[in-house]
Amino acid sequence: MSFTLNDLPLRDDLRGRSAYGAPQLDVPVVLNTNENPHAPSPRLAKALAEAVADTALGLNRYPDRDAVRLREGLAAYLGHGLTAAHVWAANGSNEVLQQLLQAFGGPGRTAMGFEPSYSMHPIISRGTGTHWVPVPRDADFRIDVDAALAAIEEHRPSVVFLTSPNNPTGTALEMADIERVARAAPGVVVVDEAYAEFRRANTPSALSLLPDHPRVIVSRTMSKAFALAGARVGYLAAHPAVVDALQLVRLPYHLSAVTQTVALTALEHAEELLGAVDDLRAERDALVLWLREQGFSVADSDANFVLFGEFEDRSRVWRDLLDQDVLIRETGPDGWLRVTVGTSEEMAAFRAALLKVTGR
Ligand SMILES: *Cc1c(COP(=O)(O)O)cnc(C)c1O
Repeated sequence: MSFTLNDLPLRDDLRGRSAYGAPQLDVPVVLNTNENPHAPSPRLAKALAEAVADTALGLNRYPDRDAVRLREGLAAYLGHGLTAAHVWAANGSNEVLQQLLQAFGGPGRTAMGFEPSYSMHPIISRGTGTHWVPVPRDADFRIDVDAALAAIEEHRPSVVFLTSPNNPTGTALEMADIERVARAAPGVVVVDEAYAEFRRANTPSALSLLPDHPRVIVSRTMSKAFALAGARVGYLAAHPAVVDALQLVRLPYHLSAVTQTVALTALEHAEELLGAVDDLRAERDALVLWLREQGFSVADSDANFVLFGEFEDRSRVWRDLLDQDVLIRETGPDGWLRVTVGTSEEMAAFRAALLKVTGR
């Protein structure tokens, strides 16, 4: 007799849903989840191990529930006059987003996003019982602000997600557009800046809007530019009242002492961890040019990945690349594929494999 989740008293609104599932495959060239390809140096690994050994001597006690030292460190990293009171941290920015939806979304409330965008925004919304309203982006993957304001007027969302630079398209938003949305939105506006450090010069951060917009929340992560995806550390910057709201929903001691120590130590070595960002940005810009030279359509990217196409059968291209030991991501609009920017060796392998499988 087979017993499946359909035989369980699962919530009706979760029936038929699929889980987040970027494949985790053991392949030589992994370019599918937008990680920084550079592992910590042996020197940094040793510093992390020593800090954790020190923390281990106190593991009989619960960690600092408010992660104050870490929030101070993150505030200093962000600058913009921010303090620990403006910053909140959790196990990845996904947990930060979940806490935001627990506090500001929920049954009877609506969250809105502009698709194609980050697949976890609707998944976390629905997981918290929040109704999800997707609004399409235009053909250039930009947000049509007039259409956005009309959708906001119609649906009155409690939470609006703006992803900038956007995943999976790489598109950054204009500050004036974020401001127009922030003025019109009746609830909170979450600007997901997971890829902020990869922005091209002159692309501003929504952090500059915080002093004048107490309902704007900027979410960041140590998973991407900071090369720390395995540690699970995300954070936000917002008005201190937002941080007060999150204290109502977070689980006590949610951020382990080990995580707090690892993140603090990583911040002390920010220069090393962020050292490859300039190279990755240059590698990205070169990749965009190269793909265009080969005749592909390519979205402008302010992130560490590139969306390109268009393929009649993108699944076949994805599978053929995998046969060449190159794992990229089948995501975004039909016909397009997303590739993360890796080391120059990895990108050379990707370019060679792509030429081979597309017969160019
Ligand atoms: C990768 C990503 C995140 C980061 O998630 P973490 O939980 O911090 O690892 C958040 N938002 C977007 C848009 C992303 O692409």
